[in-house]
Amino acid sequence: MRPGKNKDGYFTGVEVEDQATAACSIVVNNWPDFEHIFVYDNASTHHKRSEAALTARGMPQKISGFVSEATKKRKADMAAKQATAAEDLNEMEVDEPGLPAPAPEVGEKKKRKPRKPPEESNFLVKVNARNLDGSVRFDEHGNPVKVEERMTGARFKDGTVQDLYLPDSHPEYAGKFKGMAMILEERRERGDLRDIAPSITKESLSKLRAECKSADGKAFKCSDPKSHTCCMRRMLFNQPDFAEVKSCLESTCLSFGVTVLFLPRFHPELNPIEMCWGYAKRVYRLKPESGREDDLEKNALEALDSVPLHSIRKFVQRCGRFADAYCKGLDGAQAAWACRKYKGHRGLPPEYLADLKAAGIRAGGNPEA
Ligand SMILES: [Zn+2]
Repeated sequence: MRPGKNKDGYFTGVEVEDQATAACSIVVNNWPDFEHIFVYDNASTHHKRSEAALTARGMPQKISGFVSEATKKRKADMAAKQATAAEDLNEMEVDEPGLPAPAPEVGEKKKRKPRKPPEESNFLVKVNARNLDGSVRFDEHGNPVKVEERMTGARFKDGTVQDLYLPDSHPEYAGKFKGMAMILEERRERGDLRDIAPSITKESLSKLRAECKSADGKAFKCSDPKSHTCCMRRMLFNQPDFAEVKSCLESTCLSFGVTVLFLPRFHPELNPIEMCWGYAKRVYRLKPESGREDDLEKNALEALDSVPLHSIRKFVQRCGRFADAYCKGLDGAQAAWACRKYKGHRGLPPEYLADLKAAGIRAGGNPEA
C-alpha cells in the first residue's frame, strides 16, 4: 500500500516472476486445452533479463588479465632497474632517516583504487546467491548476497555451445574470459560471420575497435546501431544468440507454454488494465472520505474488486478494436473515432473506410472530430 524503499518496497522483478508463475499455474491447470497469451506493458521490470544472461555489454576486448609481450618486457626491465637501484641505495649512507613524506598538494586528485593484478582479474557476472530451496540469500543487513559466476549461453550458428572461457588447462590464461576478439574470431573461423561480413579476415577482425564512442565520449554509441561491423561490441550485440536472450518473465511463462506479448510504449489504449484502473478509481472516489489508513486500504481493495467481469471483457474488446484499427493503417485520431463508432464490434467492420470518408476523418487529426 505504501510504495517506497523504507516502506512496503516496490514490486520487483522477482515478484513479477512469482506472480506470473501463479497466474500461469491457474490458467494451465484450469484451461489446459487453450492457448494462453499474457499481455504485459513495456515496464523495465518486465524486460529484465537474468543477471547471468549473455550480453556483450561490459565484455573486455582481450583475454581477462591479458599482458602483451611489450608490457611483459617493460615490466621485466623496470624490475631489473629497481633491483639495481636498491643495491646502490644500500651502499649509500642515509643522512636523515624518518623524514615525513611530503603532504599531498591541495586539490590533488584522489588516488584511484588500485587495480587488481592481471593474474587475478577475470570477467564474471554477479548473481544473487541462492539457498538450497532456490530462494535468494540475504545478509544480516537484508541485502541480497552476490556471488560471481561465469557467463554462459553463447552458441555457434549450428547450436553448439561456445565456451566463453579458456580451458583450465591453458598454460598462461587458465579459466580466463576469452574476450570479444577471440569470441568473434572463433565464430569467423567457423563461417558464422560470413553473412554479415563476407570479406572479413582474421587480420581485419583483430584490428576492429572494441566499441564506437559518440563525439562527447559516451561509450557504445555506434553511429548506425543496425550496422553489423562497426565495432566488436555491436557485432556481438547483433549475433542471434546475444539478441534472442529472453527476459526472466518470458522464460518463466514459456516454461508453462504460455506466450508473452509486450505492448508498445505509450499506448495505454491497447492495455485493458488501464480501463480497469479507471473504473476502480471512479468507484474509489465515490466512497466516503476518511483519514484512517485502514479505511483507505479497505476502500482501495473494494474498488479494485468492484470491476465486473463483463466490463473487463468490454475493455479487452475495446483494445482489440484499437489494435485492429492500427493494423488496418489508421492513425491515432482515426482509430479513436472508429472505436467510438463501432462500439460493441470485435474489430472494424468492412464498411469502415467508406464511413471514415463520409465522416471526413482524415489521417493526421481532424479539428472537427
Ligand atoms: Zn559500433
